Amino acid sequence: MMTEAQKQQMAEAVARIRAAMAEAARRAGRDPGEVALCAACKTRTVEEVRYSAGLPIDLFGENHVQELVEKTDAGAYHGKPGHFIGHLQTNKVNKVVGRAALIQSVDSVRLLDKIEAAAARLGMVQEILIEINIGAEESKSGVGPEDLWPLLDAAAAKEHLRVRGLMAIPPADADETATRRFFAAMRELLAKAAARGYERAQMDVLSMGMSHDYAAAIEEGATIVRVGTAIYGARDYSKKA
Ligand SMILES: *Cc1c(COP(=O)(O)O)cnc(C)c1O
Repeated sequence: MMTEAQKQQMAEAVARIRAAMAEAARRAGRDPGEVALCAACKTRTVEEVRYSAGLPIDLFGENHVQELVEKTDAGAYHGKPGHFIGHLQTNKVNKVVGRAALIQSVDSVRLLDKIEAAAARLGMVQEILIEINIGAEESKSGVGPEDLWPLLDAAAAKEHLRVRGLMAIPPADADETATRRFFAAMRELLAKAAARGYERAQMDVLSMGMSHDYAAAIEEGATIVRVGTAIYGARDYSKKA
């Protein structure tokens, strides 16, 4: 059970983040209304997510299919959208398509094909982002910037998919200057993708920036920031599988 003190702490944290988001947008000459706050709520309980959904958070991001299923089925998001932001295994696609308003982490043709098939079965159009491995890290998911174009061509040709933009997680060990350069590279990549003029894609979403760097991400063009720790506190992985 959450205590009143924990609730107040969370409400204050979200208020602080929204203020910092608005400031960052203004510094960059952007409208604060252009940037959505995604609460990255992996490992958080239904109760925590339900409480946070009453705060000025725009949407929720899940890394694990089981948590997306549990929290959407419990109505924990208060009707706000849930996005999938983690590595998606092809055998779990059926549980995510239709449940996630946006799948942010698409990084292979195989995954595209599975999502297209699941969306076709449901007779719907699934919105997706392509995840870019902007730091070219070996251990990370996402496609390298140079591999974006064939994947984007394939995605834009699918009848039941709509590409909305790009997502990235810069290397965790990059310093502030390097991180900012990765964010700027993402903005340029999105602009290039938009300039290709795909009829069926709408390249207007850039998902980047987390607890420690969301302000820089907004200054560099993010339209969604994904914030976990700064809202909910440090994650305790011992409590959950
Ligand atoms: C956990 C997670 C976040 C949030 O990270 P914090 O540092 O806790 O803000 C953002 N994006 C993805 C993909 C994540 O897995």
